[in-house]
Amino acid sequence: MASVYTNNNSEESINYEPRWYPPIGFFLFIKRELMEKIHYIEQIFVIKYFTAYSFSCQLCFFTLCRPHLGNQYVEDLRKYKMFVESISSILLYSILGYFVFKVRDIWRGSRRRTVAMTARSFINHLKAFCKIILEWAKAAILVLYLREEGLEFEQNLLYCLVTFTYFLCTENVFLKIFPEIIEALQIDKLDNLEHLYVPLFMNFLAIVAGFTIDFYSFIVKSASTSFILLSLYFMVYLRLKDVYYNYWEILLVERETYSSCQVASEKQIEDWDDICAICLNRMSKARITPCNHLFHPHCLKLCLRRSFNCPLCKYCILIKE
Ligand SMILES: [Zn+2]
Ligand SMILES: [Zn+2]
Repeated sequence: MASVYTNNNSEESINYEPRWYPPIGFFLFIKRELMEKIHYIEQIFVIKYFTAYSFSCQLCFFTLCRPHLGNQYVEDLRKYKMFVESISSILLYSILGYFVFKVRDIWRGSRRRTVAMTARSFINHLKAFCKIILEWAKAAILVLYLREEGLEFEQNLLYCLVTFTYFLCTENVFLKIFPEIIEALQIDKLDNLEHLYVPLFMNFLAIVAGFTIDFYSFIVKSASTSFILLSLYFMVYLRLKDVYYNYWEILLVERETYSSCQVASEKQIEDWDDICAICLNRMSKARITPCNHLFHPHCLKLCLRRSFNCPLCKYCILIKE
């Protein structure tokens, strides 16, 4: 049998091919096409509709946590009540997320501003401040409304701690803020790739937490099998794909590109005796591109995110000799 398939004469081997081969080939082709389409739709959902994607994960996680970490035991709770409680928890956390987002916006705006505050920018600040107060008022109304409806918002500390940590790891605004905070600490080991390492770590935490609560719910049968499978899809499968395609693959390319730009010594910076061509400021720390141009590590990283060419001479940094 084996000799038929290892025969070098291709015409002869074709004659020996079993008749059922073409339908299987066709089936595999359809399957591949279908998988590609599904993958494409999933990527659009994860990237373009990130809010819906993170909300789905959070809703699954919060609902699965409720019977184990909440104050009341599962049998006391009706299913819809668990959903409403999960949604209201997400809403309250979201208001906090919005608050952090706005504060970050104001802080960034005030850092960027070099001229004195104008009347217009003062009005913008005032508007943002009013909006934050409005969001907190919304939260208070929501809590009061839920109380009226008989849904006391009295989660225990453990539930709040676990769900809030999960929320932090999956919400868009925190996925952007935490890398910025770590970036400010200037940890050399992270090689200016905090914007990828930190979300990778946060997603890893979310996947482990999601898998653990899913598996535990399956063992103790605290949720229906279909809901557990749906949660597994959102919290583990989709998130793993998100991590792989949107962080891990980019990290590998950026690490390779960035590693070809050596850290400049003090003498090299002195010899260069020029400002960073990207931000036009003097340099105390710098990286040298293979084309011998010096830039701030942070400025270079921002440029390499958009293009793999040297910002000054357009030499392609990614290609290695
Ligand atoms: Zn610079
Ligand atoms: Zn160059």
